[in-house]
Amino acid sequence: MVSTKPHAILLPSPGMGHLIPMLELGNRLLTHHSFHVTVFVVTTTTSGILKLTSKYDNLNIILVPSHDVSTELEPNRSVEDRIVSTMLHSLPFLRSQMLSMNPSPSLLIVDIFGVLAFPLARDLGMLTSVFFTTNAWLSALTIYLPFMDKEMQRRHTNNHEPLFIPGCQPVRFKDTLEVFLSPVEEDLLKAAKEIVAADGILINTWQDLEPAATKAVREHGILGRFTKGSVYPVGPIVRTVELKPDQDHVDRHAVLNWLDRQPGESVIYVSFGSGGTMSEGQMRELAFGLELSQQRFVWVVRAPKEGDACGSFFDVTNNGGEETVGYLPEGFLRRTEGVGVVVPAWAPQIEILGHPATGGFVTHCGWNSVLESVMNGVPMVAWPLYAEQKMNGFMLSAEVGVAVRVEEEGGVVCRERVAAAVRRVMVDEEGLAMRNKAKELKVSGENALSKFGSSYKSLCEIRKDCELRLLGCEGRSVSGAYDIGDTDGIDRLFCS
Ligand code: UDP
Repeated sequence: MVSTKPHAILLPSPGMGHLIPMLELGNRLLTHHSFHVTVFVVTTTTSGILKLTSKYDNLNIILVPSHDVSTELEPNRSVEDRIVSTMLHSLPFLRSQMLSMNPSPSLLIVDIFGVLAFPLARDLGMLTSVFFTTNAWLSALTIYLPFMDKEMQRRHTNNHEPLFIPGCQPVRFKDTLEVFLSPVEEDLLKAAKEIVAADGILINTWQDLEPAATKAVREHGILGRFTKGSVYPVGPIVRTVELKPDQDHVDRHAVLNWLDRQPGESVIYVSFGSGGTMSEGQMRELAFGLELSQQRFVWVVRAPKEGDACGSFFDVTNNGGEETVGYLPEGFLRRTEGVGVVVPAWAPQIEILGHPATGGFVTHCGWNSVLESVMNGVPMVAWPLYAEQKMNGFMLSAEVGVAVRVEEEGGVVCRERVAAAVRRVMVDEEGLAMRNKAKELKVSGENALSKFGSSYKSLCEIRKDCELRLLGCEGRSVSGAYDIGDTDGIDRLFCS
């Protein structure tokens, strides 16, 4: 008798922005949709984020033995290259573990850096899914990549013309991803082809947040025709547990006690995600800008890094310590005493954003931070640093209307611009409109997740797909051998 309770394997790539939504997705699959769930956590040698997983003790979490890729890659290789290399090293371990699992795994869910595990999953007769831990607009761009007109790409790269995506906002050159600054690499194209050939695509968004882009990725007449499997908006999947790397959760964080004493919606929270760093000069401008704004603030401060906007990506817990405040301008802490709080390296973001005293968020526009802000009805100052964050910043300010965007001049956002952006969100009339919009979206996000909401239904459909696969795979053994005839039939089923 074959169990019809599907077993989902989740494989997040390194980085908090990938790990957190994957753990949360696992949690939802387990608690609301009765999946067996196993999460493989691929770590990096310098990472302290493993402690985070202990908060998800209801999930079966397997740690993949760490492999230090820094000794194999040249130091100037990108974060993306390091992630891909780390993932590649995890495959033999993943294979041996999955072969011995009972019940046999039926579905592999990866983020975009994990698609190289798809051949392995197909060998084991599993369904393959990609979870975009980002928005539908970027997902649309990725889905469209293999079919994109090469001449348009060339004009985008060379002449700085916009990149058109059917059914979506074009991508302006000033917001483009680094990969489009030169001809798109073969590896990225290969990954995009794996994504469109997956049995399913999950996106951490919902219809009301991105009406055009979610329609574009789903509809056959637009981009839906390019994907083999269905596209499911499953968001907003945001963190539900507090995570504090490097510390056991003993006491309530002091910053929350400070927030308790501040008036409602009067504090701007300033944080650049788990990996964002800035130059010393930029940090100084930000500090003076906060002072100039005359607003209460909580600022998560990291040691500065020159020319490396994601300098903490792999070692979020190793760059903290009280010494980071030493980089602040002379007298800053004294002058802002009582008005602002500086938190070194890491803050309890979810609790801060959910606190009634918090009224705004200066963010690097990492997608988790964006969703966490929206789901707490908090408007933003969009200050993108790297990866797709400029696209996110554009979308939030120009399309959704929940953020103002800061612009650099000569590579730096000057203090006057920082102060003006903070005041627009915290004091000006337009800030109120953004706050109202964020609150509206919070309600619609909650509805999407609630029982029989659109995102809830998406996960129900995924479960149904898995059940069908299980029913069709009766000949498959625990060792992973299966009857190819069966899976051919199943493929027809999923393609139809
Ligand atoms: N985070 C946090 N405290 C911090 C910095 C980050 O709790 O001081 C969490 C934040 O709540 C979010 C995640 O780390 O869930 C960062 O993900 P995001 O996608 O925003 O940015 P990334 O770190 O991937 O650039």
